[in-house]
Amino acid sequence: MLIIACPHCGQRNSNEFTFNGEVVTRPGPDPDPATWRRYLYMKTNATGWQEERWFHVSGCRRFLMIERNQDTNEIRMVRDYGDRR
Ligand SMILES: [Zn+2]
Repeated sequence: MLIIACPHCGQRNSNEFTFNGEVVTRPGPDPDPATWRRYLYMKTNATGWQEERWFHVSGCRRFLMIERNQDTNEIRMVRDYGDRR
């Protein structure tokens, strides 16, 4: 069981959330086709720490940025996705 500390709702079971994939920086304006292909389809799926986007569907219905270790499922950072920038 994975517990996620939502900054709005507190400690919640991960089954209240949907996983929206790893965070990938969108390419700048007018990228070449190879850059678009990498952005859309080529996820890193790396081991170790990864930034991910989750949606709290059964709670505050907000997107969250979560830093999770792919090997251990440890979470070391959760914040509102809008706080990233
Ligand atoms: Zn929440």
